[in-house]
Amino acid sequence: MATQLRERPDVALPHTTAAGSDLLRDAVLHVREACRILEIDPTTERLLEMPERELTLTLPVEMDDGSVALFQGYRVQHSRLRGPAKGGFRYHPDVTLDEVRGLASLMTWKCALLDLPYGGAKGGVACDPSRMSTRELNTLTRVYARALAPLVGPHVDIPAPDVNTNEQTMAWFLDELERQSGTFQPAVVTGKPLELGGSAGRGEATGRGVAHITRLMLDRLGIPLSEARIVVQGFGKVGYETVVSLVGSGCRIVAVSDVSGGLYNPAGLDIERIDLHLRSQPQRLLGGYSGDDAQIISNEQVLTLPCDALIPAALEGQITSANAHQVQARVIVEGANGPVTSEADRVLAERGIIVVPDILANAGGVVVSYFEWLQGLQGRRWTLEAVRTELDAMLTSAFEHVVARADRSEVSLRQAAFLIAVERVARVARLRGLTPQGV
Ligand code: NAD
Repeated sequence: MATQLRERPDVALPHTTAAGSDLLRDAVLHVREACRILEIDPTTERLLEMPERELTLTLPVEMDDGSVALFQGYRVQHSRLRGPAKGGFRYHPDVTLDEVRGLASLMTWKCALLDLPYGGAKGGVACDPSRMSTRELNTLTRVYARALAPLVGPHVDIPAPDVNTNEQTMAWFLDELERQSGTFQPAVVTGKPLELGGSAGRGEATGRGVAHITRLMLDRLGIPLSEARIVVQGFGKVGYETVVSLVGSGCRIVAVSDVSGGLYNPAGLDIERIDLHLRSQPQRLLGGYSGDDAQIISNEQVLTLPCDALIPAALEGQITSANAHQVQARVIVEGANGPVTSEADRVLAERGIIVVPDILANAGGVVVSYFEWLQGLQGRRWTLEAVRTELDAMLTSAFEHVVARADRSEVSLRQAAFLIAVERVARVARLRGLTPQGV
């Protein structure tokens, strides 16, 4: 049975109001819980909890109307114990330093769980990209890249796309860094367009990985793919590719949603038709879709529909103590980072609902980012087939490792994943001579 997460009274936890703060608080709690089970000393525990470096930026951007807007930006390098810091950056109005700290911490544990030679980082700019022109986004990205230039590099910190950032954003970011340094640096950023040194299969990687882990989990539960009913919240880079891959394996997608609302059809949605609708408008939103027998539902309703697998693939803090009692899924696969709060985790465990944690479920993106980085360093190209084969193998191995650890230590899948990851990072801290004694 899952051990309960406990707050330790002697060290203050971060203030918890906004979803971003909850994410940070939960990341800290998961690390503390793993340290307690692993009997790691308090100094090492603190070292693993705390971010190594953080940068807060004020970014002046000339807008199309000639005014100058100031945006708040961040980059947090949580850990570089196992290798250069790795993690995406997002553009979203709700970005806060606490959110970025929590996301950076998750990257450390995700990379360690997958045994990638990386630490963890994350970045973000508080802005609303849906209200900015392409020129303004290009300028903002270049201003952000110039500010980060002294702190990033192929062996220091390697950014990538996240919420509301994409291949084009990475292309602008790369171009600005290369202009600054006067050298080509294809390994300084991942998630780039193929023509600029990107990798085959990077765009689909996170969603493909989420789908792969979902299939492994359904198989473990004895649910045939042809009978599986799946709900996906969020229809962006991760949610969309997850749906495409699961439909390809014969699963029934009964509901999808994005920021404009949700669509539900218990008999299965017509994904091809929905795709045509998305392609017909520049914002690529589900809103306005009319087709098959899809009912229009709210984002709240999407999370509590009856299904076999619920895949939150939008933002953090979606399943909380307020709605965890109403979830009707057999398993939740965390496509997004931190979509299930620790309070909800407890409720779901009591109700026998399995949660496959983000640091395992959505690791496909950083795995293929690693392949892209290797290709950039070596000046080589992998085929799509090689990328997919290697990705599936690494995810299967991590999944089996986590399941075996959960069985052996009688803990949840999330705790097992954190035990493996924290043990690996703590060992490196000890080898580097940074801890008081062995772990
Ligand atoms: P994205 O910007 O491409 O898509 C986000 C999607 O969520 C959009 O469809 C948006 O409309 C939707 N959304 C936003 N608010 C919503 C709400 N309240 N209800 C329903 N839908 C909502 O971002 P993405 O890259 O797909 O990232 C999604 C999540 O996956 C984030 O948590 C991100 O950190 C995580 N993640 C992304 C990657 C990656 O490679 N892109 C890798 C690992 C984890």
